[in-house]
Amino acid sequence: MDQITDHKKIGQIQDLFLISQEVGSGFPIFAPNGLIIREEIENYITQEKKRRGYLFVWTPHVAKSELYKKSGHWQKFEAMFPPIKLDEEEYVLKPMNCPHHFQIYLNRPRSYRELPLRIAENGTVYRYEKSGEVNGLLRVRSLSIDDTHTFLRHEQIADEIDEVLDLVEAVFKTFGFSDYRAQISLRDPKNPKKYLGGESTWKGAEEALIAAAKKRKMKSSTVEGEAAFYGPKIDFMVKDSLGREWQLATCQLDFNQPENFDMEYVNEKGEKERPAILHIAILGSIERFMGILIEHFAGSFPVWLAPVQVKVLPISEKNSEYASMVNAKLKEEGIRSEVDERSETLQAKIRDAQTLKIPYMLIIGDKEESANKVAVRLRDGKDLGQVALKDFADGVNKKIAKKELSL
Ligand SMILES: [Zn+2]
Repeated sequence: MDQITDHKKIGQIQDLFLISQEVGSGFPIFAPNGLIIREEIENYITQEKKRRGYLFVWTPHVAKSELYKKSGHWQKFEAMFPPIKLDEEEYVLKPMNCPHHFQIYLNRPRSYRELPLRIAENGTVYRYEKSGEVNGLLRVRSLSIDDTHTFLRHEQIADEIDEVLDLVEAVFKTFGFSDYRAQISLRDPKNPKKYLGGESTWKGAEEALIAAAKKRKMKSSTVEGEAAFYGPKIDFMVKDSLGREWQLATCQLDFNQPENFDMEYVNEKGEKERPAILHIAILGSIERFMGILIEHFAGSFPVWLAPVQVKVLPISEKNSEYASMVNAKLKEEGIRSEVDERSETLQAKIRDAQTLKIPYMLIIGDKEESANKVAVRLRDGKDLGQVALKDFADGVNKKIAKKELSL
């Protein structure tokens, strides 16, 4: 049997998400199983960021058009939804989270003691992708970015970039992306006048990006002339299990928006200074990341991500009471477990659980019931034999806690 890898097909088989033509293409809907995966991903990235001092916020999905005129998105960003008129004002669905997060910085006077200030949100934005270009979860019109805007002093840039790379490495490792490379976009050395921000700041920032990748022994390359006029950046290209390369994480320095929005902080001498901004996304669009992940794992998710972690399979109706007890105990232990109560043959139940790529099957017959145990079978057909229920549950919970990739 050929392995199915298309995320749309797997999404249908495992009932993860749907595209309803009544809602519109490009606006995926997450079904209960898909939302479990999505929430696990979001909880994980949020936790990793909180541990590193990121502060989470929530911002609305709509703002006045004027805000994006000030940030320059209105003039340069083509994928904005057309405006909506309310009262005498024009509003748009937000295409970016940046200007919203800037409002938080600007809301009160800032001191150097607060920097770096890391404002984070898994923020949903709306982009007008052409109808021919929308594709499952990979290209959508409503997408949620694991966004961060870090406001910092110029002399903090090197240390902060090193921190961001630490996060990137940890996240890639968790999802089993071992093959990746960093691409660093630098100034065009022949045209230094084109760029915003002082010469020494640029030089320092570029060197910090290169040094951070080197320190971590990452495969990296530099591309001269690819930097935006407002700052250099580092992007990460990741190879999935099928050998395809995706751009995931990105970290962009920005010396321009602090000028546009007149951002300041007071330094240790009581003088006003301008911060720089780092725009950081580790997963990028969470929808797209999930699409990539479904294909990367070909639907066989590690147990911490699997929507159903255990399927309990009673051999006959006689065993259904014990099976229900096993299921209830697993749920008590926080494991996502279900019983297959259909009056199908055991072979059919195993086959169906395998089609759904459920990590663990617990086969419950008279032998297991009288021994007060469960017979464990993995989705790849491997038979682990009889185990005490408590030992099984503890083993699974250990793998979930460690986010282990293998069963
Ligand atoms: Zn941004």
